[in-house]
Amino acid sequence: MNRSDSEMMAGLLAKDGHEMVRDIYSADVVLLNTCSVRQHAEEKVWSELGRLGNLKRERDSLILGVCGCMAQREGEGILRRAPFVDIVCGTDNLGRIPGLLDRVRENGGTIVDVSREGEVILSGEYLPSKGRIKAWVAIMRGCNNFCAYCVVPYLRGREKSRPGEEILEEVKGLAKAGVREVTLLGQNVNSYQYRAQSTEHRLQTINFVDLLKMVNDIKGLERIRFITSHPRDMTEEILKMVSRSEKVCEHLHLPLQAGSNRILKLMNRGYSREFYRDIVGRARELIPGVAITTDLIVGFPGERDEDFEETFDLVEEVGFDGAFIYKYSPRPGTAAAKMGGEVPEEVKRSRLQRLQELQKSLSLKKNQALIGREAEVLVEGPSKKVPAKLSGRTRTNKIVVFEGDKEVIGKL
Ligand code: SAH
Ligand code: SF4
Repeated sequence: MNRSDSEMMAGLLAKDGHEMVRDIYSADVVLLNTCSVRQHAEEKVWSELGRLGNLKRERDSLILGVCGCMAQREGEGILRRAPFVDIVCGTDNLGRIPGLLDRVRENGGTIVDVSREGEVILSGEYLPSKGRIKAWVAIMRGCNNFCAYCVVPYLRGREKSRPGEEILEEVKGLAKAGVREVTLLGQNVNSYQYRAQSTEHRLQTINFVDLLKMVNDIKGLERIRFITSHPRDMTEEILKMVSRSEKVCEHLHLPLQAGSNRILKLMNRGYSREFYRDIVGRARELIPGVAITTDLIVGFPGERDEDFEETFDLVEEVGFDGAFIYKYSPRPGTAAAKMGGEVPEEVKRSRLQRLQELQKSLSLKKNQALIGREAEVLVEGPSKKVPAKLSGRTRTNKIVVFEGDKEVIGKL
């Protein structure tokens, strides 16, 4: 979501006459779009700001901005630690960035804009789509779930679905410009719901299944992905839609977070390990060959050895294709931060390591099962690791590196 926001900001600024440079030393403006989901992400921004402060001392005309979640969380606090910053711009005001830049350039001084009133929501209309193969399309913003560990709802505000027509127009534009694959983005895409005024002036509600169906009909587009699904809101209808529709890829990112019912409850996730297991079972029945990936947190407050073992067992039983595994990071203002029962750092570290090793072996097994098979790959370009070869992804989101002619880039 942050990368998508950054792209939209860049697109908006390009439309306002700015030009992207690759080298930070030749930039007149540097904007950091920030993440607050874990403390580590914020620490990286503070250290980057230290470096940029030095740059600013050498060149006073440089305009520095801190945008997004950390700006929203810290507000003026950014200036206390980094007084040389010119602009602090919160999550709802990113669309105002060109205006804020003009104001700083004309009047000098510092601007802190973290209000939620008169928000200017970004949309993809400014995105350069030429020459792109894949694109993100935000279909909703914010989150209402308040998982106990998570700061997102406090920083990105309440869940809000974008109008269906707007999303469809955006995807049509992208497809027309040559984009082959879109990823629909939201904190919980399964709960997408938009009440539209139909042509007969009756209120018509579009849910996520309707949206998938409509995006699937867009000509020129080859593939549709979506992240993230909340297991609680994953329905049979969505699974059937994935199975039925030609373009929606057979991959679900379904964050489990923990495999112990006691911890899931403390996390306020709204499902049990049994429910999760059932959903995965149904997904595998309805969508043959579906890949399932997940997010996991170790060391949530009060997580005992038995709780962790339950997570470990469930991860092994489900056999994920991939997993992002994180050490719990207390976030100020969240319910979990007030819970007590902190898990010692070395315990978190060893649980993280055990799960990572397990997942590595599970991913290997999944990949080995593909040896000798044929798969559809959307060719994206030269491989990052082996530039002489090409790289792309299967429908199940696995990276494939292979020898091939540059002519196949952008093709299936
Ligand atoms: N809305 C999405 C993603 C939210 S953030 C979802 O619900 O799945 C992405 C991941 O970061 C989460 O799935 C979670 O695993 C992790 N995360 C969020 N807050 C965290 C915290 N305080 N400490 C550690 N990991 C966290
Ligand atoms: Fe955070 Fe939970 Fe919302 Fe995901 S669903 S953004 S983890 S509160």
